[in-house]
Amino acid sequence: HSADQFRHWMKLVTEFCIDYMNHPEVYDVVTGFKPGFLYKSFPKEAPQKAEPFENIMRDLYTKIMPGMTHWQHPRFHSYFVTGCCYPDIMADAIISSFGILYFNWDSSPAMTELEVGVINWLGRLYNLPEAFLFQGNVDQSPGGGSFQESASDAIFICLLAARNKKIKEITGKSVALANRDSEHQAITKLVAYANREAHSCIEKAALLALVHMRSIPGDHNLELTGENLEKAIKIDLDKGLTPFFVHVTCGTTATGAFDRLAECVAVAKKYNMWVHVDGAYGGNSWALPEMRATQKGIEDVDSVNINMQKVFLHSTSASGMWTRNQRAVKEALSVDPAYLKPRFEGTNDFRHWGTALSRRARCMKSWFICRLYGADGMREYVRRMHRISKHMHSLLEKDPRIEIIGNHTFTVSAFRLKMENEKEADELTSQLSEYINHSRKLAVTYARPANKSVIRISINHPQSLEQEMNDSYNVLSELIDEFTLLSQK
Ligand code: PLP
Repeated sequence: HSADQFRHWMKLVTEFCIDYMNHPEVYDVVTGFKPGFLYKSFPKEAPQKAEPFENIMRDLYTKIMPGMTHWQHPRFHSYFVTGCCYPDIMADAIISSFGILYFNWDSSPAMTELEVGVINWLGRLYNLPEAFLFQGNVDQSPGGGSFQESASDAIFICLLAARNKKIKEITGKSVALANRDSEHQAITKLVAYANREAHSCIEKAALLALVHMRSIPGDHNLELTGENLEKAIKIDLDKGLTPFFVHVTCGTTATGAFDRLAECVAVAKKYNMWVHVDGAYGGNSWALPEMRATQKGIEDVDSVNINMQKVFLHSTSASGMWTRNQRAVKEALSVDPAYLKPRFEGTNDFRHWGTALSRRARCMKSWFICRLYGADGMREYVRRMHRISKHMHSLLEKDPRIEIIGNHTFTVSAFRLKMENEKEADELTSQLSEYINHSRKLAVTYARPANKSVIRISINHPQSLEQEMNDSYNVLSELIDEFTLLSQK
């Protein structure tokens, strides 16, 4: 294709992005199509001959857009809404134009060093202790961080680092050795702990790492306490097992609860365990100086992850992971084939921070966003999301038909229908959530914290202000009325 064609197409693509970002409300927030709508009529083979660009854009508008779930729609309150902004899109285009991978310094010197610089910037924006950042000679720095594909990957990798460290303590060997019998035996005794409300990715990480996993009930606010954690650890110690990993959630998925970090850290350290903080969502609140009370205790944890795509302007994927023990991560994941032998000694090679060599330069997105917003602009964004979510929460609190579950901590509210009979409230709340999503006027997520049905309302829409919250609440209110009428029939 010629440069002129590209220039012309990019102009059209730019206009598409602008239109979509400014007017996603021209679409229903969720699709009315049924599963199979695209696939069943999809051509079996890729086209033999090149097609005109216009054909693709026509199909984009007619076949793709109506079949999308529109995450950037102002009435989208499902999951944790992702960010979206122009600097992010521009950076993504530039990354694609590089056409690179970077797994070591040689494969992309500038991106390797940009990632080091930017992950430090982000760590400081989140007020992480300096021990979690790269200092001095990057490869020798005790602490540091990296971009990961997702929070699930970051958590899995930290679990592997902790597992390897504990196995080494027990057997004197690392799992990277050829004869692994004694390491495998040690693994059978290892136990990881998390709040019952923790995201399912810790369960998956434990499944993959073949370690035992205990899900511990939280307190009345659904927060994991030091007391409950220690009780669970002692039971396992009595059985001759080896507690090695505590997963502390700062901002749970269902209600946004923050585990009692300082208490959990104190217990974990008593038993010589690795503490990981899953701040995938809630960690973003630490960008705001006024929201750092929940961070107390972080000085003594071993690793942290935060998803910048949750409430920090980034689109996916932009998962940050930081550790005070870079060596433990690298020891668990390093293999050195001849074809990856570095040209220079002592470089920081990000291939040791995960399984992939095909790494995309996600740091470029953060670099653009940090520079085009500035720290003040980014904080202002997070502060606005928190403020409008509080506004939404206050509307929900005043509604006599519903009961709020959990505290409002950042940008998520959870509620259920208020009823005398708990079972009925459970059943009808679940049906209401389906009714709302089928209406295609508003998108919400159903969850079951502490075994109770709830509906979550998550906020992270770049253009939204209080008015959009009022609009979403009014739509919700009408849907609750309709649903109540129908369910009484
Ligand atoms: N941790 C928490 C608290 C989450 O809410 C989520 C997803 O929403 C995750 C981890 C997993 O995130 P990812 O999709 O990046 O793997």
